[in-house]
Amino acid sequence: MIDLKSFCHISRGYFTEPWSRGGYTYASDSKIVVRIIEVKDIPDNELSPDMTDIRLPWDHDSITDYGQLPEYDPALLKPCGFCKGLKMLAVCQECKGDGVLYFYSSAGTEYEVNCKECKEGYVHQGEDSAPCPDCDGSGINKDVGIPFSDAFLGIEYIEKMKVLPGIKISPTHRHEGPFRFIFDGGCGFVMPRKVIWKEVIE
Ligand SMILES: [Zn+2]
Ligand SMILES: [Zn+2]
Repeated sequence: MIDLKSFCHISRGYFTEPWSRGGYTYASDSKIVVRIIEVKDIPDNELSPDMTDIRLPWDHDSITDYGQLPEYDPALLKPCGFCKGLKMLAVCQECKGDGVLYFYSSAGTEYEVNCKECKEGYVHQGEDSAPCPDCDGSGINKDVGIPFSDAFLGIEYIEKMKVLPGIKISPTHRHEGPFRFIFDGGCGFVMPRKVIWKEVIE
């Protein structure tokens, strides 16, 4: 059984759980979607998007140039700089997660100052665990794109796809459109990275 949850978004509303519709079960975080034959105990979610949208051509059978996922140096797999790979962070109690504090002078002028206890409202230790906003709780530095076809694939998505049995990806896609991939028991799409690959080797 494929770990559908690993393709869901960690916090974004209707993308946090897989859903079934029209004979299929889907899992997506909006940048990647996998589709398998309907799993009977996974219900539909009326808020989930329509994945038969025209921008997603489910024509995987008509493509013949599937190949291996791009390989890369494991050294490129860096921990997220924001959470240092912790994945989960705590909300700062000093600023209640705002990242800033407000003060008034005796003349009544308001000052906004950055909270000194945290980084953008999050701290590394404490209660109220929340997924890291930078890496969506993956712990992976997302600034790394791996060259593929005429674009780049986010390294965190290759890591997710890698575990799919018999995974193969096609280099054919419309400009800025998603790449098709197939695996034993299903298929899916992954969006190319729009931003150019930011080198992260220090
Ligand atoms: Zn992170
Ligand atoms: Zn704070």
